Amino acid sequence: MGVKKDKLKGLDIRYFLLPLFCLIIIFAALTYFTLRNRVNERYRFFENEALSIADSYSHALVYSHEAYDIISELLSEKLIVASQAVMLINGNKDNEFLSELADRFLIDDIFLYNTNGEILYSNVDKYIGWKAYEGHPVYDFMTGNRDIYVEDIRQDTVSGIYYKYAYVKSQDGSFVQIGVLADKIHMFLGQFEFNNLINDFYVKSGVAHISFINNEYKVIASSIPDYEGMVIEDEGFKARISGQEYSTLRSVQDNQNVFIVWVPVFHGGEKHGTLSISWKTAEIDAEIIRVIHHGCLLLVILLSFMGGILYYAYRKNKSNLKIAYYDKLTGLPNNEYLEEYLAEEIKNIDKNKKAIFLLNCANIRILNMTYGFAYGDKIIHQIAGKVQSVLRPDDTLFRFGSDRFILVIDSYNNRDELIDLAQKLISIFESPFEGKTGHQYVSAEIGIVEIRDKNITVDKLLQDATLALSHMDGSLCDSIQFFEKEMEDAVRQEDTIEKALRAVINDDSRDTLYLHFQPKVDIKRNTVAGFEALARLHIDGVGNISPVRFIEIAEKRHLIYDLGKQILHKACEFIKNANENTAHSISVAVNISGIQLLRDEFVEDIREIVRTHSIDMSSLEFEITESVLLDNFDLINKKLGEIKRMGISISLDDFGTGFSSLSRLRELNIDTVKIDKYFIDKIRGENDSDLIVADIISMAHKIGLSVVAEGVEKDGQMAYLKKHDSDIIQGYLFSKPVSEAEAIDFLKIFETQASGLG
Ligand code: C2E
Ligand code: MG
Ligand code: MG
Repeated sequence: MGVKKDKLKGLDIRYFLLPLFCLIIIFAALTYFTLRNRVNERYRFFENEALSIADSYSHALVYSHEAYDIISELLSEKLIVASQAVMLINGNKDNEFLSELADRFLIDDIFLYNTNGEILYSNVDKYIGWKAYEGHPVYDFMTGNRDIYVEDIRQDTVSGIYYKYAYVKSQDGSFVQIGVLADKIHMFLGQFEFNNLINDFYVKSGVAHISFINNEYKVIASSIPDYEGMVIEDEGFKARISGQEYSTLRSVQDNQNVFIVWVPVFHGGEKHGTLSISWKTAEIDAEIIRVIHHGCLLLVILLSFMGGILYYAYRKNKSNLKIAYYDKLTGLPNNEYLEEYLAEEIKNIDKNKKAIFLLNCANIRILNMTYGFAYGDKIIHQIAGKVQSVLRPDDTLFRFGSDRFILVIDSYNNRDELIDLAQKLISIFESPFEGKTGHQYVSAEIGIVEIRDKNITVDKLLQDATLALSHMDGSLCDSIQFFEKEMEDAVRQEDTIEKALRAVINDDSRDTLYLHFQPKVDIKRNTVAGFEALARLHIDGVGNISPVRFIEIAEKRHLIYDLGKQILHKACEFIKNANENTAHSISVAVNISGIQLLRDEFVEDIREIVRTHSIDMSSLEFEITESVLLDNFDLINKKLGEIKRMGISISLDDFGTGFSSLSRLRELNIDTVKIDKYFIDKIRGENDSDLIVADIISMAHKIGLSVVAEGVEKDGQMAYLKKHDSDIIQGYLFSKPVSEAEAIDFLKIFETQASGLG
């Protein structure tokens, strides 16, 4: 649905939340990417660090191996030479001798063992008598097959000091052990031991844990001593460790988040093992949390700020919408809204039958004038409330102008349903509203338009509703009127007529307006008493317009005075022509509207016109209708007296149809009464007895008025009128209203016949 019933609901908060939501998304995305970058950077740093540690580690390993090999070799050579030398010396081998030998060969210990592995002699006294036992390296040599053996540097089992020992066996099974103090060398090489290296890196790099794992998945060295000797069982870990490339993993160790990098360590092109280096990520995690906290805080501040702005914009927009689309007094949707709403409703007439009611409160303007606008507003407010209370849920009420409302009927089945609702609305106005002066009655009327045409514009629809209001004919009820197509035609024609009349008034040479003349025959003297001038209007493309209609329009549109003057001019022209063309001077009756009579300048204007055409005042007669006298009897009567005094005679037209106060007839400044055709039509024959026409004639005569019978068509009617002493007869029996030339012809023929008769 395009236009909502409540415009303010159309102002969806979602449109305002959307930018806010987008902002959150953008902000969250920015935070996420920044965070991810920071974290990745950090992990990359860990990876690089791990690689560099591994690199250093493998270098250290290479150097340590090389150094060890060189030193070991040198010592081995020295020991072998010394051992052989000892073995070569025969004879007295005592402690002293051995001390000398040691000094000469620059060796630290020489032990001579017997075949049982007992030390017989030594340069160091204290060991004499020590015997090798099973499991001891000396024992192993003694029982082994080798004659010469150089041991790796090891701790002396008694002193705990590091030595490198060499053994040489003689043929009898006794043997010599020569040792070189290797404490310093051991210390030097110790630096290159896995564990020391590991610890060194551990201390320097600040990692959480570092281990070296050999190719058999055994932890060779670790910064956590407990791990040493452990064999990795986890297949996942094994897979990572066995690779030729480094790999990484985020995991949990000892209840702490860690980032592990496994880097293979190569030595001489061969993989020596894998360094496992773990970093605690607590710091990164803390940083992430910190960044998230800051982000959230910033977001909250930003959202509050933006939210504040958007809410303000929403409120502002809402109040603007309210001003633009709602009536301040009643709170009802206004004209602007109505236009949009109706435009949408028109599109949907396929779905439901739709209609509009134009409710007009007739006397609000008077209330405003009488009691002030505040009072009028108070009443309108009550009307809006009461009307709304009887509406059906789908129908929508709009305030349309100061004292009008439009009700849009969303769906209905038939006219009766509309009439019911309209009557319900009208009944609201039967009870009074609360005014400051007590009970206040308001009269209302409703124009109804059924929306049938999908192409109708809103403007046209409202126009039709207004038209319906102006055509209240009481056919339904006094206050309800449906719009009909003919009303539109009538209004359009009215407009055409108005335009034609204005053209006539502005340019009297136009023959749109002309006069026809109907003779009045004096049946007593058998002469043409005169003519009644009857105005005719012919509009090209429309045809002849009845004078009843165009006179009414001229009165309504305030054109009657000027039009009347034109008619008077034409009538005077006719008088002049007839007088010039016939033997007798004739009299012409002109119909005069009450509005003309009431104009101050009327008398002066008549004088001017009569003077222009150089005719006698007495050749003019004015016909006025009874209705004119209704409101302004005295004033009109005074005017009539003035006119009469000028020499123009006056007829009371359509006598008997309106306000017929016979009693006041006597006071009236008139000469003649024209009995309306309505009464003449009732005459069936000469001897009709139960008619009031005879009474009217006699009463008129009694007060000195002559009598014209209008609309006489039948001989019987004339016979009756003659019998009852009517003076003049006008009707189709003699002639219809005819053109000027025909009227003059009629006059001539009638005179000839009359003189013939006479
Ligand atoms: P009205 O003054 O009563 O004019 C008489 C009407 O009755 C004329 O109709 C005339 O044609 C008609 N009539 C006369 N005899 C017969 C008859 O035997 N049978 C029938 N059926 N009709 C007859 P018209 O010309 O249509 O005029 C109608 C009304 O228009 C006039 O009624 C008069 O009130 C008004 N009117 C006409 N011309 C003027 C004018 O110039 N000024 C003003 N203010 N009103 C005029
Ligand atoms: Mg008349
Ligand atoms: Mg008449």
